[in-house]
Amino acid sequence: MVLYEVYERDETRINREREGIRELAATNKVQIIPPTAHPIPPSAVSQTAVEVVKTLTRAGHQAYLVGGCVRDLLLGRQPKDFDVATEAPPERVRELFRRCRLIGRRFRLAHVRIGRDVIDVATFRAAPGPSDGSDHDGARRSVTEAGQIMRDNVYGTIETDSLRRDFSINALFYDPIEETVIDYVDGFRHLERRELVSIGNPFERFREDPVRMLRAIRFSESLGLSTPDDIRDTISELGNLLHHVPPARMFDEVLKLFHSGHAQEILAKLRSFGLFRFLFPFTEESFVDDTVSLAELGSRNTDQRITDGKPVIPAFLFACMLWEPMRADIDKLVEKRVPYRKALVTAMDDILRDQSQYVSIPKRIGFVVKDIWLLQDRLEYRSHRSVTAALSHKRFRAAYDFLLLRAEAHEVARELADWWTRIQEVEHHDQNKMIKAINIRPRNTRNEKNMRNGRNGKNSRRRRKRVRAA
Ligand code: ATP
Ligand code: MG
Repeated sequence: MVLYEVYERDETRINREREGIRELAATNKVQIIPPTAHPIPPSAVSQTAVEVVKTLTRAGHQAYLVGGCVRDLLLGRQPKDFDVATEAPPERVRELFRRCRLIGRRFRLAHVRIGRDVIDVATFRAAPGPSDGSDHDGARRSVTEAGQIMRDNVYGTIETDSLRRDFSINALFYDPIEETVIDYVDGFRHLERRELVSIGNPFERFREDPVRMLRAIRFSESLGLSTPDDIRDTISELGNLLHHVPPARMFDEVLKLFHSGHAQEILAKLRSFGLFRFLFPFTEESFVDDTVSLAELGSRNTDQRITDGKPVIPAFLFACMLWEPMRADIDKLVEKRVPYRKALVTAMDDILRDQSQYVSIPKRIGFVVKDIWLLQDRLEYRSHRSVTAALSHKRFRAAYDFLLLRAEAHEVARELADWWTRIQEVEHHDQNKMIKAINIRPRNTRNEKNMRNGRNGKNSRRRRKRVRAA
């Protein structure tokens, strides 16, 4: 392979690299933390990731574990995934592993599959630099006029790679062969002190990639880190850049934010920094000062489920976030004499479509959101037939959990929620008795809670268009 002749396929070169890092350590440019000085037990490291590192090393390439997994291991947490960084270019990685796929346009990555595990293998990135031309397909790096990096496939060294990461605690490398932590950015000390430190000036770094602001909030809340003023000030200043982030990327980030186990604090932080409105503008508008919203109750409920080790689904989160603005739309339509059922269907479609301009909601998730909402009617306005149908619906459990939150928000009677709790607990025979005893209540087409709060139809569709244009 002519292309790869530059790589000597023996370990002497790797040893030389290690020697090079040690020399740098002597100049304080890099710190190498020996196994005796850090708490990572080798047994906590994914054996698959170690295998990937060993294969790359044997082939003569530097390779380390990097990023979130090293941070989490140092904190004694179980990493969600293990990432490897290497100097081998993606095409070389593909040669070395039988089951390997190259993915990504913005950042080119290799997905290496071993058994059931998938390890992301990224090639060391180069120091930031200008675009190498317009955003044509051949461009390896492309930067917008606003400074946002759209593509970045220029390769570098372990040191430049480290400096390209967002926060110092995320820029640590772990060498599973020597069991050392390699640190170019003082991240080890920052982690010990529980400090979130931006690598480089946060103003530039957040302009380069506005998602880093959301990551800053997530890490500070979920890891209990202090956030210095420069980061806080910059977030307050640059929040509106989140407008430029593609909705699909926002979707991934929203899930990480609200499924972190710290959704409640994160929601409050996002709002206090004025960022929440860039994620869920209609929800932000629907908040009423002295009432607790479904968004807040949903966040608290999600945190509790994660603490209890129960599963969480994205659809439940979106159902909670968008419920109140969707209800306001129904009111507006009903006021215009649109029949309730039609108003409901229209409002559901409208809110999901409009929200997707900010945070995309994949269709399969949108369907579940709608199921949860549609079932609310069956749970609220019980008839003999609808109870049986609701109980056997595959989304019953989520819809019932949702009803409990609505009861907490005083949107439906506590007794109604209790009735649904009870009917799941009793024997079939007693279920029938309960169903027979239902006092069928006609539907009240108004959204009583909204009427009480004097904010009927605040989120009209016309208003929503204005928000988007702003
Ligand atoms: P978690 O997996 O817990 O969400 P993480 O830090 O591992 O946190 P990933 O998205 O898995 O986050 O990214 C892996 C690593 O890639 C990070 O630790 C960081 O070093 C780097 N990284 C991720 N996103 C960015 C970004 N937007 N800017 C700079 N570096 C980033
Ligand atoms: Mg990660």
